[in-house]
Amino acid sequence: MLKLAGLSVDYGSFTAIKNVDIEVNEGELVVLLGANGAGKSTVFKAISGIEKWSDGDILFNGSSIKKKSPDRIVKAGIVQCAEGRELFDRMTVYENLIMGAYVHRRKKAEVKKSLGHVYELFPILEEKKESAAGSLSGGQQQMLAIGRSLMSRPKLLLLDEPSIGLAPLIVEQMFDVIQKINEEGTTVLLAEQNANAALKIADRGYVFESGSIVVKGSSNELLTNDSVRKAYIGA
Ligand code: ATP
Repeated sequence: MLKLAGLSVDYGSFTAIKNVDIEVNEGELVVLLGANGAGKSTVFKAISGIEKWSDGDILFNGSSIKKKSPDRIVKAGIVQCAEGRELFDRMTVYENLIMGAYVHRRKKAEVKKSLGHVYELFPILEEKKESAAGSLSGGQQQMLAIGRSLMSRPKLLLLDEPSIGLAPLIVEQMFDVIQKINEEGTTVLLAEQNANAALKIADRGYVFESGSIVVKGSSNELLTNDSVRKAYIGA
């Protein structure tokens, strides 16, 4: 479904990612692991069309997305749920969710169906639908950000550190929901520093260091890899 082939991204004279190969097959949940600054967000920005790349290519269902603008990439089915959430704080939960469906100008019945699905995944969002997004807790805001991404019915959902700053119990719930979203048919590419939790729900993973992939494999292979355990799992 998604293929990054020899991808490099520069910020001026600084090469943030270098010659990166990543594949995500339809239906998979794939995780990108790596410390702060390793290059995970840069990969996401390139896939979303926000950052141009200097070398290599990104193919989505076999076609290059190099010339596509960010909104056309969303229309093609790739939706990024940003780190930091970027919600409309003064708008209600409901209004934020409706904004997520805007890009497709969907019919009312379809929007209602998507909304029902999001409320089923995150019942707290239905309870709080009339509250301002800015008044929600950190975990609820993250749920709203994911819910808003789902309103446009992505084929590929990009999740950048959804567990960052959340309490352990909420992190667990978050990973359960991400797994459910994947099981319901949405392909997921997840960037995480919480390697242990991410590898428990992922099919495969890639480990980034200083802009390059240093290890890749199935989740089981990564969970039992000594250097991965030492650096990212703390065992
Ligand atoms: P984080 O978890 O902190 O977001 P990351 O793995 O996602 O980390 P990136 O944000 O992709 O890492 O950053 C990769 C490298 O590129 C870092 O060294 C960062 O300082 C640098 N970088 C990121 N954005 C820019 C920019 N706009 N201009 C210059 N350098 C940048």
